[in-house]
Amino acid sequence: MNTETIVIRSESDLHQLKRAGDILRSSGLVAFPTETVYGLGGNALDKAASKKIYAAKGRPSDNPLIVHIATPEEAEKYCVTNELYYELAASFMPGPLTVILPKKYVDGIPVVPDETTGGLDSVAIRCPADPVAHKLIVSAGVPIAAPSANTSGSPSPTSAEHVIHDLMGKIDMIIDGGESVFGLESTVVRISENTIYLLRPGAVTAEQLSVFADELIIADEHLKEGERPLSPGMKYKHYAPAKPLYLVSGDEDQILNFLLEKQDTEKCAIICYDEDAQVLSPDNLFLLGKKNDLLSHAHRLFDFLRKTDITDASVIYARLPDKEGIGLALYNRLIRASGHNIINLK
Ligand code: AMP
Ligand code: MG
Repeated sequence: MNTETIVIRSESDLHQLKRAGDILRSSGLVAFPTETVYGLGGNALDKAASKKIYAAKGRPSDNPLIVHIATPEEAEKYCVTNELYYELAASFMPGPLTVILPKKYVDGIPVVPDETTGGLDSVAIRCPADPVAHKLIVSAGVPIAAPSANTSGSPSPTSAEHVIHDLMGKIDMIIDGGESVFGLESTVVRISENTIYLLRPGAVTAEQLSVFADELIIADEHLKEGERPLSPGMKYKHYAPAKPLYLVSGDEDQILNFLLEKQDTEKCAIICYDEDAQVLSPDNLFLLGKKNDLLSHAHRLFDFLRKTDITDASVIYARLPDKEGIGLALYNRLIRASGHNIINLK
């Protein structure tokens, strides 16, 4: 298939979204930038488009897609909303928050087809803040189902270059809108009247969400072996580089000594903080930003997971993040990317 690529850098480029909207209305697939990661979009109400999304990504068909809308109120057409949804929407939409709500039925038929929701009775709703994503939804005139625009299992794409690498020739169009500002996928929550279940941590943090409900349950920590995951995506291997990745935890001295020794004895790539460059040798060092600059870490992490793969290193080491604030999202992505390979030096 011929994949058209368009570049949008300013207002004057936006007219090109008309054609992207046409493609989406005729069951085609368009990869587009958002503030979290790039999405692979298709008409959420069109079974054929959803099936194509799963095929292009190689995504298991029981892993549901997030439905992207232009304004929070549009959720009324597809889901049963509640007060808590609108409270969250007032604070975090448009933005990197996905809310799971019960499906809406008209004459016994779900408005959003099972093909989009992996057969579930609920719909995941997000209202992206990225201006290109917003204008694309408006131009399409339909809600856009979009998972991350990568091959299933590989690190999510945070630039058009990543999407081109994974999906060129498999979809109709790629919109290059520059690098994703945040760089990790949206926070996903399921809500009942006064409980928030955090299914996937992201830029909207557990701390920020907790003030909106009597109880906030972090699903990952409550997931026992053999239990049915609340979010089907949680059971799949994710974000994985092709090379083995180990996460290192311990005191500062222990970590640095460990990494120095590895640099001496192994061909390794290391994902760490700017400050570490004063101690470690520059060879295959990937600096996430200053130690406390978690936004910079989020912005660079997936790009680094891809880049470490194309070095001559045979193994990758990264620091295990703390679980506070956005750190929880970084922690969640890295433990999955590493297949829970943690080296605890304490
Ligand atoms: P991705 O599209 O790759 O960013 O992944 C979307 C995430 O949202 C996956 O972990 C899905 O399992 C989850 N998700 C989407 N829709 C639902 C839903 N209706 N119920 C539970 N989880 C969902
Ligand atoms: Mg994904």
